[in-house]
Amino acid sequence: MDAKTCLQKLKYVGVLAFATVDEYGNPQIRNISAVHYEPEAMYFFTAKGKAFCRELINDGRVQVLGYTKYKEMIRLSACAVPVCDEEQPKYIDMIFDEQPYLYNLYPDNTRMLGGMVFKITDAQIEYFDLGVNPIFRETYTIGKKRTVFKGYNIANSCIGCGKCADNCPQHCIEKGAPYKIQQNHCLHCGICFELCPVKAIENVGSK
Ligand code: SF4
Ligand code: SF4
Repeated sequence: MDAKTCLQKLKYVGVLAFATVDEYGNPQIRNISAVHYEPEAMYFFTAKGKAFCRELINDGRVQVLGYTKYKEMIRLSACAVPVCDEEQPKYIDMIFDEQPYLYNLYPDNTRMLGGMVFKITDAQIEYFDLGVNPIFRETYTIGKKRTVFKGYNIANSCIGCGKCADNCPQHCIEKGAPYKIQQNHCLHCGICFELCPVKAIENVGSK
């Protein structure tokens, strides 16, 4: 798996959930299918008058979520920016030609009057496959985005009691000094964190 394949899979999913943050700090989410994909970028259309557009202009942070029929979750975290004015018509036409139903929503020239295309070129992509045993997860990036680790780590203060490994639902904790979590198979359930008698397991980042 890699970032390009994740974008391809999102393309096949078609309708994605886009989450933003509004002016009051509240989460806002909606489904978007007006998307054009490139090997390492994503372009999407919205109307200038929509709250979604204002949130992207004012804040820019966006998470895009897709779930495939094979039980793969793909989440992209990024800042979206508007495509430059000169290139707006090109990308608007590209997205409308790929998604012809949009001509029904914005006939004639109204797509140019009311529409705006944003691009995502720097992003972190989390891939999470729930359909395999043990589960598989990995994180990739596109553009200048750097990976931010999220999950659980075992510190040197581990006393090797084995309680975490015995109770891990994915059997992804290896014996050692200290014990070690196989990050690619960790569910982030937190059971090990709760059970460790010496608090040697740390939770890094948000879930
Ligand atoms: S439960 Fe804590 S101390 Fe015991 S093996 Fe796991 S990490 Fe180490
Ligand atoms: S968070 Fe859950 S899945 Fe991950 S190592 Fe701990 S118990 Fe196992």
